[in-house]
Amino acid sequence: MAEKTKEQIKIGGIDETKYSMDTHLIYGKSVSDKWDYSHHVTAPISSSTTFRLDSVERGAQGFMQFANTEEFGDKAPIFIYDRLGEPNKDMLEENLAYVEKGEMAVSFASGMGAIAAVLGILTKPGDEIISHNTLYGCTLSLLSNWYPRYNIKWSPFDLTDPANIYNFVTPNTKVIYFESPANPNLEIIDIEVVSKIVKELNKDRSEADKIYVVIDNTFSTPFCQRPIEHGADFVVHSLTKGIGGFGTDMGGAVIGRKKFQDVLHLYRKDFGAVLNPKSAWSILTYGLPSLALRQRHQIKTAVRVAEFLNSHPKIEFVNYPGLPNRKGYETAKKQMIDFNGNFAPGSMIYFVLKGATPAESKEYGIKFMDYVANRAYTMTLAVSLGHTRTLIEHPASMTHSVVPPEKLAERGLDAGGIRLAIGLENPDDILLDLDESLKVI
Ligand SMILES: *Cc1c(COP(=O)(O)O)cnc(C)c1O
Repeated sequence: MAEKTKEQIKIGGIDETKYSMDTHLIYGKSVSDKWDYSHHVTAPISSSTTFRLDSVERGAQGFMQFANTEEFGDKAPIFIYDRLGEPNKDMLEENLAYVEKGEMAVSFASGMGAIAAVLGILTKPGDEIISHNTLYGCTLSLLSNWYPRYNIKWSPFDLTDPANIYNFVTPNTKVIYFESPANPNLEIIDIEVVSKIVKELNKDRSEADKIYVVIDNTFSTPFCQRPIEHGADFVVHSLTKGIGGFGTDMGGAVIGRKKFQDVLHLYRKDFGAVLNPKSAWSILTYGLPSLALRQRHQIKTAVRVAEFLNSHPKIEFVNYPGLPNRKGYETAKKQMIDFNGNFAPGSMIYFVLKGATPAESKEYGIKFMDYVANRAYTMTLAVSLGHTRTLIEHPASMTHSVVPPEKLAERGLDAGGIRLAIGLENPDDILLDLDESLKVI
């Protein structure tokens, strides 16, 4: 191995721990074993599906080391083929693990790729997954449409009361899965309490029968909430949203304990949902370094918008984790905390239009959305979130259209419910557009 240059020693010698997380998001790890890019200010895009091996022996060594951290530790990897690992993904993963306070991260092609992977490594036929009854639409579809084919049972119930776990858990339960705030109604679940209950239950279970707590932290981003600090085993992300931040790339990640890194790598190798290196590079270069700045602006705007909506006569109620008097406010205050210790209630708002009947509310929802789609400059009718632009959608007719109308309430949804994902605009302009648009109903 070549001797380190003076610059490398200097860079490697910096005590990174004394700097804040906001700054870490920009610099990441100043030196990575994954690749020596210490002379680039911005990491280069590595775009190579396959890697040259100096000898058969090096190839053999590479295959031996792959997904074998127990024996080989985390030493500089021998890259073989993109699907097994390559520099851009690996560098992004190091930074994601760091910011989520996990021991390791494994990236995937999309958020759903990451969710399917973590559930895939934790379950087998005969097992059971318990979840909150309100979930991201495709996660709901994965659990209700696909898993029964593999004889993996799904039991949804109201996790806002964590004591319910005692009533629903069975010897076959392997995973407790939820989002907090939940999509799309922003219900809050107490991560610490759920994790404590599961720890208690695990005391009487063998290693193979342990229950794992998996949390989809997409809505909060690690800026607002780090579930592993509150006792969760795994965090999953759609990097497509707030972490990516610009709506240009899809991606996903699973973050958790080191001992699951190998099996996640093996799963990713064989199921194939690998993150495109160019997308990994974008998220590493643009998404993470701007995360704190974007989130701080979006939270400030979201607080103002939520307060405006909350006092509007045409609105039944607003769910925003930062509004006092809403159910879950105290829990949100406890667990949604930014890197500097401030309450960080996020950039998502859910509000419900008034209507005499659910049918009328839904009709108002459609009318309002159609007006917004054509006349509002600062709100775009589109799914997704964590974008530079404020995005707005009507779950009952869009993201959650898989839920039959008579089951909306069961899934925690309202016919007139609107999901608003705040962007980077001037907040005054969003308020102007909302005020105008609400006049049509
Ligand atoms: C978007 C989203 C997902 C899925 O992520 P993709 O990157 O679209 O696959 C999962 N969970 C939540 C909460 C999301 O918003």
